[in-house]
Parts: sequence; structure tokens; C-alpha cells
Amino acid sequence: GAALLAYHAQDADERVRLEVRADASDDEVPTSQPLSMENVLLLRDRMKVVRLNGAGTPVDAYLGIDIGSVSTNLVVIDTERRVLKEIYLRTNARPIEAVATGLQEIEQELGGLINIRGVGTTGSGRELIGELVGADTVNDEITAHKTGAAFIDDTMLGLGVDTIFEIGGQDAKFISLQQGIVVDFAMNEACAAGTGSFLEERAKELGVRIEGQFAEIALSSTAPVRLGERCTVFMERDVQRCLLRGIALDRAVAGLAYSVATNYINRVVRGRKIGDVIFFQGGTAYNDAVAAAFSNILGKRIIVPPFNGVMGALGSALLAREKALRKAMPTTFRGFAVDKIDYKVKEFTCHHCTNSCQMQRFTIEGEHSFWGDKCSERYRKAVKVEREPVIEDLVEFRRQRLLAGHNPEREETAPGPTIGIPLALSTYDWAPFWLSAFRELDLRVRLSEPTTNQTVTLGLDSIISEPCFPIQVAHGHIRWLFDNGADLVFVPNNISAPGDPKAKPSFF
Ligand code: SF4
Repeated sequence: GAALLAYHAQDADERVRLEVRADASDDEVPTSQPLSMENVLLLRDRMKVVRLNGAGTPVDAYLGIDIGSVSTNLVVIDTERRVLKEIYLRTNARPIEAVATGLQEIEQELGGLINIRGVGTTGSGRELIGELVGADTVNDEITAHKTGAAFIDDTMLGLGVDTIFEIGGQDAKFISLQQGIVVDFAMNEACAAGTGSFLEERAKELGVRIEGQFAEIALSSTAPVRLGERCTVFMERDVQRCLLRGIALDRAVAGLAYSVATNYINRVVRGRKIGDVIFFQGGTAYNDAVAAAFSNILGKRIIVPPFNGVMGALGSALLAREKALRKAMPTTFRGFAVDKIDYKVKEFTCHHCTNSCQMQRFTIEGEHSFWGDKCSERYRKAVKVEREPVIEDLVEFRRQRLLAGHNPEREETAPGPTIGIPLALSTYDWAPFWLSAFRELDLRVRLSEPTTNQTVTLGLDSIISEPCFPIQVAHGHIRWLFDNGADLVFVPNNISAPGDPKAKPSFF
């Protein structure tokens, strides 16, 4: 484009100059301090899988299965809580096949050497797989991860783990503990920017292997580029821009390690209390550069426990063992051959909200279990609690509070023109502010309507890149406003905003 403009330019003043810079000096690019492993404690090699020698009678064993949307992990322990087997598999949207493969491997290797006395399941597929394998205990991920971490801490350190960072393929969790009890926890919401898949995709774009090579390159950098924390869509562009400016690969890779840690702190932890004994677990904890980034940012020691990638399954096996020993009841485990178990599958689409999840309903011995939901609520077995909610519908409560200043009658008579406010992202969060501002300016305000399938479709038709779902929905709100009488639509470009004083600096 620049060349064509230059070709058609009438005189020298119109000529376009294309400036190509071979490199950017350090004082032009913000940098972070080099990553260092000095304050990272890797316990990976200090506890290993125990191999049974096959002599004597089979030993009692306990099986833990963690079924997530990305990975399925299995762990077998014995009564002394020694790990006899760990398996990591890709779920590939087929949880039953993944578990069947894992169980087959365990049977082949340990079948004659162990007697399964208890089985626990956890993860998003815990109910389905629990039903299928005949689990003795089914636990949520927070309980399972906490149990695994507390066990490693008790047996290896005795420091009293008080904080767990767990970063998996597509999800991330934060758990805060006090004397072994969970006092707070959080999970990532729609954003994948602080998860393993974010890092994996960026590494692929850079032609760097995520296993080993990424950390090696990142840790060799003396001046990591400060990329900040950004939406994954923009981050891809930012990294490419860095490389085009001639910035060395190691600096960009180290910058990415910092980004994933900053994203996690700002989007998952969000100002919650971070203690002093921090365990970093989940698949992403195999990446030493991310552990180093956490320790540099927080100025605290980061501990990477052994079996960090299968900690949920380990916790689940420990919970199964504890229950079996406490109750002294025979296990309900159906055996290793789950592929022989008779079950029926029915596929359907849930229309209860705009996510329109593609669901599978499994019927095993008359019991229904579900797979494919994004909300972890509608198809889960209800947990019985005695307390009544203080506010019945928090989402509706928030909506009413944010829109309290909106008076549709006043809008009809205001001089105008009509300005649309999309009720999405920050314009929704700050609706009281913008409503007051536009009222003072005598503008007529039109608000977009609650999200429906039509909003999503409008959004999908309006975008050219592939942003995350909330951004797609926001586009739908804007389109709807233009189609419904708005002369203008207000979409501010937020440069900065007052944030939580406890949060790390962010590019918003
Ligand atoms: S998120 Fe939940 S309620 Fe919404 S469509 Fe999916 S399963 Fe149904």
C-alpha cells in the first residue's frame, strides 16, 4: 500500500515514507527483570512412582480419576499412599473412551498385582465417570486438588500449604487454605488468557516446543519484553509485532511466561489473599518459566509439587482411600473393562441459555449422567444445603442495580439524538456513570436488550477475527442497537481505568 501511494504521489510532500527498523533498543521497549529459578522449589524428582515387583499377594490399591474437558488423568496409590501409577490422557471430547484406555493400561501393567479397594472421581466429568466405573466417592476439583497438595506438603515439607495456583489446559483455579481448610477459591471465567492453552498457542505461533524448549529459551533471556496481560486475540498480534521489530525470540518467549502469570493474578486471583506457602500445580506447572515468572512478580517462593499434572486424580485417590478405610465397606468399582458396561447415549441441545450446549445424556443402570454443559449447574446432581440464599437471583439483582438510573419514559421525551449503550462488557459495568453523563447532555438513551440467540448470531455476523464469546456477544449488542433506532452507539476505547488497588498493573 505504501509503495502504491508513493508511486501515485504528486509531489515530494505527499510521498509516504516507510520506516523499517532493524531493531529496537532496550530503552524503547519496556522490559521485565530476567526470569530466575532461584526462588522456585521443584519437588518433581523427589517423589517417584513405585514399581511393584510382583512378589507375594496383590496389594490393596485406590484409584483416582480426574476427567476434564482437555485431559483425563488417572492415579493408583497403595494403602501407604505411594503412587503406583500415573496416567495423563487427552480427553478429545470422548471421556468414556479416555477412561477406558487409562483403565486398560492399568489392568495390563498392574492387573495381577493390585486389588482395587476404592475409587474416586473428580473433574467436570466426575458424575458421568463416577456412575460408569462405580465410584465410591465423587468430589469437586477444589477438594481433590487441595487433598493432593496437602498430602504432598505433609509428607515432604510440613510447611502448611496456604495457597494453590492450579493452571490446566483451559481452566485455572486459585485456592486459599487456612490450616488445611479451604477458605476461598476462584476459577477463571470466560477468559482463556491465564491458562495453558494460551501459552501453547502462542508457543506454536513462534515455532517453539512448549515442553522443555519454551522454558529453556525463556530462562535464557536477559531482558524479557513486557507484553502485559491482554486478550489472547491481541496478544497474538503484539507478539508478532515484537518479532517484526527485530526483538529477539528469547525476549518475547520470556515475556509470554510473564503474561500468563500476570493474567492469572489479575483475572483469577483478582486481589484475593496470596499466602506464603504457594503450590503451583496443573499441566502448566511443568513450564519452569511460568513458575519463575510467578516468583519474580510476587517476590515469593513457588513450590512445584511432584505429580503436579495429575494432582486432582491423586487427591481423588486419597479421598477414595480415606473413605474405604473409614467405612470398611467393599468398593462399588465395576472393574477395568468399562467398555463392556451397558449404557445408552442420547444427544440433544440444551436451550436453557444462549450457550446452546451440545449435550450427551448417558443412561447407566437407569441413572442419568450428562456431559457437555458449560455451566456446571443445570445437569449436576443438586447438593443439599440447609441455608437459604440471601439474594435469590444475583444476576437479576445486579442488573436492577446497574440500570436503576434508566427511565424509559424520560428517554422518549429527551431532545436526542438517540445514543445506544450496549449492555455488554465495560459499558454494562459502568452503565450508571454513562446514563448520568448522557442524561446531562440531553441525549436519548437506548439500551440493548438481554442477550438471546439472536444477539449471538448478530455478533457472529459482524466479526472478522475470532475473539472470545463475550466479545462476540458485545458485537451482537452493538448491531442490535443500530438495527433498532440508535443514531449513534457508544463504544468507548478504554485506555485506562481505576482498578483494584491490590491488582497488578494492567493494560485493561
Ligand atoms: S450453559 Fe448450561 S444452561 Fe446454558 S445451554 Fe449450556 S448446559 Fe444449558
